[in-house]
Amino acid sequence: MSFLDKVSDYFSNDIAIDLGTANTLVFAKGRGIILDEPSVVAVQKGARGNKVLAVGKEAKDMLGRTPGSIYAIRPIKDGVIADFEVTSSMLKYFISKSTGQKKSFIRPRIIICVPYGITQVEKRAVKESAHSAGAREVYLVEEPMAAAVGAGLPITEPTGSMVVDMGGGTTGVAVISLGGIVYCKSIKVAGDKFDEAIAHYVRRQFNLLIGERTAENIKIQIGNAYPFEEERSMEIKGRDLVAGAPKTIEITSSQVNDALMDPLSEVVDAVRTALEKTPPELASDIVDNGIVLTGGGALLANLDILLRERTGLPVTIAEDPLSCVVIGSGRMLDNMDLLKQLAVD
Ligand code: ADP
Ligand code: MG
Repeated sequence: MSFLDKVSDYFSNDIAIDLGTANTLVFAKGRGIILDEPSVVAVQKGARGNKVLAVGKEAKDMLGRTPGSIYAIRPIKDGVIADFEVTSSMLKYFISKSTGQKKSFIRPRIIICVPYGITQVEKRAVKESAHSAGAREVYLVEEPMAAAVGAGLPITEPTGSMVVDMGGGTTGVAVISLGGIVYCKSIKVAGDKFDEAIAHYVRRQFNLLIGERTAENIKIQIGNAYPFEEERSMEIKGRDLVAGAPKTIEITSSQVNDALMDPLSEVVDAVRTALEKTPPELASDIVDNGIVLTGGGALLANLDILLRERTGLPVTIAEDPLSCVVIGSGRMLDNMDLLKQLAVD
């Protein structure tokens, strides 16, 4: 890094934001990741509209534990912005928390990664929120593109790269070449649907009611997309639907595999469709280069094995899948040419 770059980083307050359905991460120019919090807002509903009580970690702890008039909301749950006002408050909170860490007399340039395929109206709302939070310039980059950059794929080369970015609300399957998205399909099947499928299975098989967080915990502990060589199991607590009392049961990894079968096959189908719709030259590049998995969903055990088996292609998991998007967009803070090429209107 040259002396001038160091000086410009010193005065810069530029940030890149991964506005994910599950987690929001912020990368500060010259510093790296400075914020990583759940995309959750706790809102109190009242006669005079909604009042934001907490954002991020603090709000997530309230999920499922709130009294009547308080709601913990995930404003971009399914990859669409369901609630503009709440999304805007959340974004402003994260921006001021990030840029407020450092005094700077220059207003920041802000890159925001948005789910692929959000509407023009949603994009405008995101941009306006960032401007009103003090941004000097706002650039929007689509998540699959940022994920591919963060995973180190050669996106500007004339070769096809495929990235499967599995987050909380959506899985994006994208084929990228020469700095452009050649094909992308986003499906609303990702981590949240896995959690729901596990909760549903537990209710059906054991007559046991469990919450979202317990289901997610099961997924993280013993979830798998392809059976483990050795069976694993864990104890879970919930409410017995018949007796109405708390009960503890044991669930095994192959049961969780059963539970995840349906949503997993939707993901496999989306990848297969992408391969079918990719122009032949690029498809043959992908046969050589393989598929790269990013997003928290990439951490589901043996997802790579499942996809390898069902597509016959090499599959790799990106290093630090949860941070690929923010790292990719963070890299664009240092490369204006790349940013201008990749940003969308
Ligand atoms: P988004 O980009 O939508 O905010 P993330 O990329 O942050 O989503 O991924 C969040 C999802 O990853 C959640 O559904 C979470 O349960 C899942 N996840 C995180 N760690 C693991 C793990 N070890 N195994 C399986 N899923 C995981
Ligand atoms: Mg994401």
